[in-house]
Amino acid sequence: MGCAVAILVHATASFAQRLPTNVSPTHYELSVTPDLQKATFGGSARIDVTLTAPSRTVTLNAAEIEFDTVTISAGGQTQRAGVTLAPSRDQATFTVARAIPAGPAEIEINYRGILNDQLRGLYLSKANNRRYAVTQLEATDARRMFPSFDEPAYKATFSLSATIDEGDHAISNGAVMSDTPGPGTRKHTVKFETTPTMSTYLVALAVGDFDCEAGQADGIPIRVCSTPDKKGQTGLALEAAQEILRYYNRYYSVKYPFKKLDVVAVPDFSAGAMENTAAIFYRETYLLADPKTASASIRKAIAEVLAHEMAHQWFGDLVTMRWWDDIWLNEGFANWMETKPLKAWKPEWHMELQEVQSNQIAMRLDALRSTRPIRASASTPDQINELFDPIAYEKGAAVLRMIEAWVGEDAFRAGVNAYIDKFKYSNAKAEDFWGTLAASTGKPVDKVMATFVDQPGVPFIDTTLKCDAGGASASVSEESRTSQPPRTWQIPVCVKTPSDQVACDVVGPAGANIALNTCPAWVMSNAGARGYYRVVEPTDMIAALARDVAKLTPPERIAVLSDEWALVRSGRRDIGTFLDLASGFKSERNQAVMSTLVGALAAIGEELATQKAAPAYRSWVARLLRPAMDDVGWTTRPDEDDGRRELRATLVRALGKIAHDRAVIAKAREVVLSELEKPGTVESTLLNDAVPVAALSGDVTLYEKYVARSRAASDPEEQHRYMYALADFSDPALVRRTTDYIVGPEVRSQDAKIFIARQLGNPDARQLAWDLLKAHWSEIQKKTGEFVGNTTIVGAVGSFCGPGAAADVKGFFAVHKVPDAERTLQQSLERIEACTALSGAQSGKLAEWLNRR
Ligand SMILES: [Zn+2]
Repeated sequence: MGCAVAILVHATASFAQRLPTNVSPTHYELSVTPDLQKATFGGSARIDVTLTAPSRTVTLNAAEIEFDTVTISAGGQTQRAGVTLAPSRDQATFTVARAIPAGPAEIEINYRGILNDQLRGLYLSKANNRRYAVTQLEATDARRMFPSFDEPAYKATFSLSATIDEGDHAISNGAVMSDTPGPGTRKHTVKFETTPTMSTYLVALAVGDFDCEAGQADGIPIRVCSTPDKKGQTGLALEAAQEILRYYNRYYSVKYPFKKLDVVAVPDFSAGAMENTAAIFYRETYLLADPKTASASIRKAIAEVLAHEMAHQWFGDLVTMRWWDDIWLNEGFANWMETKPLKAWKPEWHMELQEVQSNQIAMRLDALRSTRPIRASASTPDQINELFDPIAYEKGAAVLRMIEAWVGEDAFRAGVNAYIDKFKYSNAKAEDFWGTLAASTGKPVDKVMATFVDQPGVPFIDTTLKCDAGGASASVSEESRTSQPPRTWQIPVCVKTPSDQVACDVVGPAGANIALNTCPAWVMSNAGARGYYRVVEPTDMIAALARDVAKLTPPERIAVLSDEWALVRSGRRDIGTFLDLASGFKSERNQAVMSTLVGALAAIGEELATQKAAPAYRSWVARLLRPAMDDVGWTTRPDEDDGRRELRATLVRALGKIAHDRAVIAKAREVVLSELEKPGTVESTLLNDAVPVAALSGDVTLYEKYVARSRAASDPEEQHRYMYALADFSDPALVRRTTDYIVGPEVRSQDAKIFIARQLGNPDARQLAWDLLKAHWSEIQKKTGEFVGNTTIVGAVGSFCGPGAAADVKGFFAVHKVPDAERTLQQSLERIEACTALSGAQSGKLAEWLNRR
């Protein structure tokens, strides 16, 4: 899945929910008949299975399914089976009078299910007074659509048919094989081609009124589909899909393994997108856009999510993790792979910078005691869903990039292809990957990877320079204070000097001396920023680096800034050292580096600047950023690239929200009002940040304009831009109105969790938003009960800081349990406590530093 999540606790090693291993499926013949008006469906399933030993029972998964008849045939005999349900385990057991012999058997099931409103299983979606039935089966919801052996290792082939209303279309994993009238009046039955061998969670079906734009790449037909009113917004995605498929066909030795590719935007969708085999389903915002007005960020997001889901066609669909504990083999790999086709197609997007930014997301979470190792056990659906977190996605990808940089891109690619070839149409675990890589590269990839995959946390390394008569070297060692119990890693480290010498070694517990040509003023100990570790350098070396930041590449500048800020957060450094470094970035004009800097500045403003210090802090931030803003100006030049547009937007956001710069806020308001007056006249990238900045001091008149514009918008980006910005108003009456709006019928449940998180992200609205959230908790739970609903909300609560906040949050969730966000809750509490401690230790030092300016 592609999802924007923040998350994680103990995952108990209970296997109570696993199926017995005596029966395995080989083929499913499925028919479903949705009744969109009644929100139910009828189903029949014939499952071909193999028994390892004679048995009178067969246990499989089923949830919210009512069984009508079940028969089991084997050895020429057909028996009626009794059904026993175990709802707490999502299981059903079929029992027959006489033992079924070992070997092949056939189970026939007639059943009924519900089209739920929880965006999982086969669920109901609505748009434009039409109804849709759509699947989202990962992780454990295939069992809501059909009784099944719903574990990823039970791969089988699937033949699906759907009986649907006249005028509706159906899209599934296989191409349409036949479409015939009936049974019944005003119905038709669509039969799809049999799928290749795959896991249950990849089965897909979308039924309703869809319109598709068709293209192809390397002879594979590709369609991008939407509801008919969004016709004309699929072009960007289709172009990207064609480019990406051609790239992957060159990269992988196994060419795209399925016969067609459909990409479908559905009106209600819980995650970002889902990589169903040859039928990728999407939330509309990440797929559809008006090509004339789409912002730089949405154009990039569309291509990036597509590249992610299409990478899954190999990593996930063709080769699947054996069990959910290794979900990173799907998600880490898709995140690692997604940037490659985009770097080739649009080098100006600088995806290499986004990679380094993603590493920071992982390392921030991984710095908490309540983080988890990449491979972590999970057995219940709640525990499994909580594994879809930045550790699986961003850390998984970061470790792969580090290994790739270490063994070399070509050797890594050969190893990846060997792994795919060996495990295609089958399942793998972590050892299968690193064993294949170690064999194909001849390097100890297995030893290095095991330390990053099976241990939690971020390694810190100490670097010092040694220069004497014997020559120069960088002495690199793992910091000993890192953890309790002590952990050690095998870390591929590369150092770089001002004269651009790069030297590398694998650093273990014994440390390493990396030889240098000459004695430099500094070394940067994460050359290229490919490493997953933090660097602790002596403060005089950081001071030398600050004077010389232009010598570092943009990825390295992101790494140095992020490391130094992480050192402050972890209590290793005082805030002054970081601000000295930040002062060296006055000439920074790279958008990604600027956005990293601005992220830290925002946190300092919120968490460390006391009311007394705030004016001095804001004016220092304004002085630091204004030269860049003056350079880039408010007016879009026709020839400028996306980076400059994004830089402008970042500066407007920072000067508005962090520096509270009156001129910038007033100008943002003027720009937004002119756009509201004449929609389509202001460049969208700027608008995405100007709209929330204008809301900062916004009144009810502006609020109502945002509501009206959001309702009138025809493309998803514009609709969400104005809708989510309602969360940026801070007037208490408007904060209340926004909460009522979120809870009310107009906001789709797919958007509610993001909307709530945005409101909790507004420091001036946070306390009231939280009080209202608590008051409306049961309504909100009904509305956001889907995948990552609670992890998103509980994660956002972690932005509180200060005495009493942790106890308040803890007390609330002790009564209002969140079993699907247990680890996330621990992480949020830890973040609140860490922020409170940091503020106590550093806010005085911030004030002193500002006084000296
Ligand atoms: Zn994914």
